[in-house]
Amino acid sequence: MPPPASIKQSHDAYLENACRRLSYDRSTYELLLVASREIAVELPLRRQDGSLVVYRGYRVQHHNARGPYKGGLRFHPSIDMEESRGLACLMSLKCALLDLPFGGAKGGIDCDPASLQERELEELVRKFIQKMHRNIGPNLDIPAPDVGSDAQAMAWIQDEYSKVYGHSPAVVTGKPVATGGSKGREAATGEGVGIVVECWARQRGASLVGKSAVIQGFGNVGSHAAQALAARGMRLLALSDLRGGVLAEEGKGLDLELILAHHRETGSVVGAPGCRPIENQELLELDCDLLVPAALGGAITGENARRVRAHAIAEAANGPISEGADATLCKRGIPVLPDILVNAGGVTVSYFEWVQNLQRFSWELEEVQSRLRARLEVAAQAVFDSAGAERCSLREAAYCIATRRLKEALLSFGI
Ligand code: NAD
Repeated sequence: MPPPASIKQSHDAYLENACRRLSYDRSTYELLLVASREIAVELPLRRQDGSLVVYRGYRVQHHNARGPYKGGLRFHPSIDMEESRGLACLMSLKCALLDLPFGGAKGGIDCDPASLQERELEELVRKFIQKMHRNIGPNLDIPAPDVGSDAQAMAWIQDEYSKVYGHSPAVVTGKPVATGGSKGREAATGEGVGIVVECWARQRGASLVGKSAVIQGFGNVGSHAAQALAARGMRLLALSDLRGGVLAEEGKGLDLELILAHHRETGSVVGAPGCRPIENQELLELDCDLLVPAALGGAITGENARRVRAHAIAEAANGPISEGADATLCKRGIPVLPDILVNAGGVTVSYFEWVQNLQRFSWELEEVQSRLRARLEVAAQAVFDSAGAERCSLREAAYCIATRRLKEALLSFGI
């Protein structure tokens, strides 16, 4: 069997399909696909044990016709230029779908933060910004947290950048509230998953109460998605992280409060009281109403898609379903709520954070939450309506809306 498609290969295929549906020619597809700028830097780090390790830092800036580049920084050994390219283009489309005044970017450092002391990670992040500061900025490129990075890392970036340019909170989003972050940003991506899933159920005349959910990944997105879905009455059947998973006792739901407490104490869901253990692969194949992949890309491939027994999938992670798997799930009639809609709550509240920073004014949590709900509901309804009218998948509808908006902006400026 051929290796599963990478995030970039899958995303390129989705974009190509959208261009075909919109009757765009090949050169327009290439114009939309190719990034404006790609930057790689070397980051030598003297570890505390005296050893020298050379890391690589990446930033791909896809297109900025709709506004400054925007996207996360991933701290993970797998990040490279190719993955950054795929994820940067996906960010351009996500921002266009939500009608946010941003283009797309992505990047990161190919390190495993769990293997570094906090001071080593801080030095690495600060070095990255020392090399990258000319290429980011409140009106140029605004990083945010992604896999392996968090509010603390954003504060180091803000500080390092501000040493050169003066107080600049708007250079990053997802930073601590204490340094100018927005209330509600940390939970925003997971809360957005809840809002989009609820909208989808509502337009099908269904209720989420008592329906079962399985979530892969219990980091920022997975843990907040679990809380958002549980708050809407869903029964959590299984959860997992890198170390393994937990499954509810027969006919019951997981006690999320107990699991959150165990996770805070141990850094993992594994071994949480009152649960049975489950392997990550097995978890993806559980019979459930909703499967939420919220870890890394490529969780569902052409190989395991045939065994998925979920009745629907909400892509909380970026690119968790490969293109081959997407086709299999489509043939099997399993609806997929696409990443560029489902996990857009994060970048939406990042937009609110940026606006608050530029205005030197902060909003209350209720205002952030109600604006988030309103934006996501409008985008979700547009996707549902278009999928119905065009008789296509939700992913095809979302990609077509976003691709059309991006192309309009790009061509308005001329070539
Ligand atoms: P994170 O680093 O906070 O958490 C990642 C989680 O996935 C951890 O619990 C980790 O243990 C788990 N994990 C990793 N590999 C796994 C595996 N093979 N099986 C099961 N669990 C595994 O990262 P995050 O910020 O929660 O991001 C998760 C996904 O959501 C990524 O695809 C990211 O690009 C996407 N995303 C994040 C945001 C955001 O605001 N943080 C916004 C949009 C999309």
